[in-house]
Amino acid sequence: MIKEKNRPLTVFIANPRGFCAGVERAIAIVEKSLEKYGAPIYIKHEIVHNKYVVDDLRAKGAIFVEDVAEIPDDALTIYSAHGVSQAVEDASQNKNLKIFDATCPLVKKVHNQVVKLDDEAKEIILIGHEGHPEVEGTSGRSASKVRLVQNLEDVATLEVKDPDNLGYVSQTTLSVDDTKDIIAALRARFPNISGPNSDDICYATQNRQDAVKQIVEEVDLLLTIGATNSSNSNRLRDIGHMYDKPSYLISSYQDIDLAWFSNVAKVGVTAGASAPEILVEEVLDFLRDNFKISLVEKSGKKENIMFNLPRELRS
Ligand code: SF4
Repeated sequence: MIKEKNRPLTVFIANPRGFCAGVERAIAIVEKSLEKYGAPIYIKHEIVHNKYVVDDLRAKGAIFVEDVAEIPDDALTIYSAHGVSQAVEDASQNKNLKIFDATCPLVKKVHNQVVKLDDEAKEIILIGHEGHPEVEGTSGRSASKVRLVQNLEDVATLEVKDPDNLGYVSQTTLSVDDTKDIIAALRARFPNISGPNSDDICYATQNRQDAVKQIVEEVDLLLTIGATNSSNSNRLRDIGHMYDKPSYLISSYQDIDLAWFSNVAKVGVTAGASAPEILVEEVLDFLRDNFKISLVEKSGKKENIMFNLPRELRS
């Protein structure tokens, strides 16, 4: 496509966007471990779902594995921000792995809810997406079978042992709107179900979705920077579709197709919680190279949350 260097394009940048406190902490755990103990360091699963971040840490000596069986005995190992099951912790102990746990504290909070429901002998329902590592880790915190519901149809067809002895938890990175509907349906079908007051969706997911809703009605196209396996990034892209706007999830500026811009005067840009700001800057540079852009950034919710590093890694 021919460059339209002089065509004006207004770029609305969502605020907040990009890294959350859990992702910052997880990356810092890997970097500080590499500094203090040297390579190699093993990481169970991608530390956060972003190729740029993973490639950078791999270049510094991190080795990413999906199964602790691939890790040599006694090796220094880090669990990803998504959390792990009890079975993974047990397998790590059998191999005498030295563990730093980069599980986001907000995911840990959900793990604790599962353990509490287990102690109360309740049947547990988890609202989440099948196959996501957070869902596997959270399900694997219960000694009993956890029932996964992904949508309203799953709630309607769910078969339980005792409708009066249920508890629910949710994945932290879901659509706020969909989850609200699913919880309402669970409460309508099982009035005695127990669970958190609203849901377990984390502050970062909520704030990034709110920020996109602040700009989406004004734009003709929405670009979300994030990995295809990043749950919260996919949900940001979905908001564009919810408002009937063309909406694309891109891993970097290289995924942008200029044909998307043929009838576009205003574009919205956001980034998932695991996407570094440099990827946003590269997208803006790309748009600057191809259009005459003006930037609009709304004031968004301030985020002051920080999570502590493990004691051994604090400087
Ligand atoms: Fe934690 Fe939420 Fe960030 Fe996930 S998206 S790492 S739950 S703060």
